[in-house]
Amino acid sequence: MDKFHEECGVFGICCDGEASKLTYLGLYALQHRGQESAGIVAHDGRRFYAHKAMGLVNDIFDEDTLDALKGHMAIGHVRYSTYGSTVIENAQPLVVNNHRGGLAVAHNGNLVNAGRIRHKLEEAGSIFQSTSDTEVVIHLMAQSKRESLIDRLTDALTVLKGSYSLVMLTEGKLIAARDPRGFRPLVLGRLKDTYVVASETCALDLIEARYVRDVAPGEIIIFDENGLQSYSPFPKEDHSFCIFEYIYFARPDSIVFGQNVYTIRKSFGEKLAREDDIEADLVIPVPDSGVPAAVGYAQTAGIPFEFGLIRNHYVGRTFIEPAQGIRHFGVKIKLNPVKQELCGKRVVVIDDSIVRGTTAKKIIGMIRGAGAKEIHMRISSPPTTHSCYFGIDTPTREELIASNHSIKEVSDFIGVDSLKYLSLKGLMDSANQTGLSFCNACFSGQYPISVGEDVDSEVIQLVLFPKRSRAMGAV
Ligand code: SF4
Repeated sequence: MDKFHEECGVFGICCDGEASKLTYLGLYALQHRGQESAGIVAHDGRRFYAHKAMGLVNDIFDEDTLDALKGHMAIGHVRYSTYGSTVIENAQPLVVNNHRGGLAVAHNGNLVNAGRIRHKLEEAGSIFQSTSDTEVVIHLMAQSKRESLIDRLTDALTVLKGSYSLVMLTEGKLIAARDPRGFRPLVLGRLKDTYVVASETCALDLIEARYVRDVAPGEIIIFDENGLQSYSPFPKEDHSFCIFEYIYFARPDSIVFGQNVYTIRKSFGEKLAREDDIEADLVIPVPDSGVPAAVGYAQTAGIPFEFGLIRNHYVGRTFIEPAQGIRHFGVKIKLNPVKQELCGKRVVVIDDSIVRGTTAKKIIGMIRGAGAKEIHMRISSPPTTHSCYFGIDTPTREELIASNHSIKEVSDFIGVDSLKYLSLKGLMDSANQTGLSFCNACFSGQYPISVGEDVDSEVIQLVLFPKRSRAMGAV
């Protein structure tokens, strides 16, 4: 489907005798955040046990692989890729052994200055195992000359620019860290005496852990058998929670940034209806992501809600298409119209976003082919006009249809009778019911941090080459 894609989901647990099995369940619940690879690293106090592979969680792990992942602490990761190509070397958690006993890292987000830092580290002699931006965290920690774990981690994270929700295992401890702007979500839960961290609360729900709170932006939490220690070593920054978590990425049953996703997604549909005045016979969602907004739209507009498109939930990722003869098979294998509901009707179709417009065009063609009299497409977010640099896989700006076409041109391209988007103000008012602060750069172009690699080179210099920096008078 033609969507923005979430990059990754992370999970961590301390301390439980079934740490790897609970991590497996957590990753299972987070599968929607990444389907290209998955991995678990466990630690028994002496050594790491790792298993990762390309594919879905359910295909990668079985009883035997989980039994081999021994220990009372574990971290896990599901990955869709953005930075770095899709190869097993980039599957996470990344694990390295060093003189301090090793380090395992799983990362959700994107480090916009990773390329530059990597270049500096390679100049200084570091050898990288992967092309993933996450690996710079490991090398930066190894370069830090400071003694304590929290100081070395603070040194490393001070240099990084961009988004990160991290879980790590090292020196008999589990670590959770979130960037000072809090782009990507990270929650803290409790399962009796066990601590759990996860990208979304749906992972806590599956293992019957209780949601305690979010890991705060800029917070580092270190867990061990004695409990947790919380640190806030960075200067406070304005928050930039990713608004797209509410529009599409997160599961609707999750609490993200302290609010239930289904409720917020439905309120987008309610707002969209209040901004609209179309007369129609029924409202249908593009399943699954358009469903909550369509419910909100239909209830507010007083128009009957129906499932006019049925989704096949059993489509694998490796469907083999015949080379000749059948065109546009991809969307048809996933969605099929209910002709009896659509024929002769004036239909409002609700989806969460339009990216390139190619999938919307095919869906509208199917609904038209089912005999709909009028088709009015309504989108529960504003036009996506800019790429994301903070952990979301997006096309280039030129490929985003709304970046270089008017709404009328997009409407003509996808073949609808009318097209409307939720206004940016409507989106922000609906999401911001409790005074939160969001990133909306893919709609507004207003990036909360500069997306070039122009990070303060003196900061990099200080962490990587402290002696040389002092000699140069940088402190
Ligand atoms: S640019 Fe869009 S997708 Fe990226 S973090 Fe900001 S709101 Fe989320």
